Amino acid sequence: MTYNKLTPDEERVIIDKGTEMPFSGKYYNYNADGTYTCKRCGAPLYRSSDKFDAGCGWPSFDDEIPGAIKRTLDPNGYTEISCANCGAHLGHVFEGEGFTPKNVRYCVNSISLNFTPASETKKADSPKATPAPEKSQLEKAYFAGGCFWGTEYMLEKEPGVVSVRVGYMGGHTSNPTYKQVCTDTTGHAETAEVVFDPTKTNYEKLARLFFEIHDPTQLNRQGPDVGDQYRSAVFYVDDNQKQITEKLIGILKDKGYKVVTEVAKAGTFWPAEDYHQSYYDRTGGQPYCHVYQKRF
Ligand SMILES: [Zn+2]
Repeated sequence: MTYNKLTPDEERVIIDKGTEMPFSGKYYNYNADGTYTCKRCGAPLYRSSDKFDAGCGWPSFDDEIPGAIKRTLDPNGYTEISCANCGAHLGHVFEGEGFTPKNVRYCVNSISLNFTPASETKKADSPKATPAPEKSQLEKAYFAGGCFWGTEYMLEKEPGVVSVRVGYMGGHTSNPTYKQVCTDTTGHAETAEVVFDPTKTNYEKLARLFFEIHDPTQLNRQGPDVGDQYRSAVFYVDDNQKQITEKLIGILKDKGYKVVTEVAKAGTFWPAEDYHQSYYDRTGGQPYCHVYQKRF
């Protein structure tokens, strides 16, 4: 699956789950007949016949194209909506507000959408039309290697990586906050959740990179950051990832590195507070804690 290239403004919403300013988007006051599609992957999401004016400054719909939208609970307790095909962030969905008989409002960022007029959709139904994008086969990987700002920064530059979120994993408490994790009693490690496209990269490549952007021989610390929340860990989602990780650690040990990286089955990933996401890209800074060093 090929994705459309996104501008920084589009990335801020579609990947970093931001929200555009109300009344600023292209489609909040737009009534043409046609189909709204995902800006990133082109999947059809909403029909103009389900669009209504909620007066909120964002395009609003009371129904989706069946199966097009994925719902997840966000850390603030709202229901986030994303493209079921590629995971692009769209906005939020609200129920019980009474705007229309269906009593649902999909509140969508204009910038997450493209629009195909009905006249073109009809043309596209002809035999020459390109097939709809395939169902996404995106995969996930979880790496902990010290301060998660740096791990995220280094991994999200890698080709084939669709998105990276920072959060907490490997501990024994639910809904941990940064403050709790920093007190070093929750057991969680600062972890990067990497979503990648296996047709463009693979787990081994990412895991190798991970071992080269942090120092896997430092126990319960990384550079200036000390505490077991900064420990080196790989949380695998399946046996394949586990075997690859163990193989790479074996290679490093053969080379004389005293690797202390924990290898454990992935548990619940708790996304960190919004202000931690894409920290260096938002602040324009450079990681103090992570540099690339060739080890393989
Ligand atoms: Zn999409």
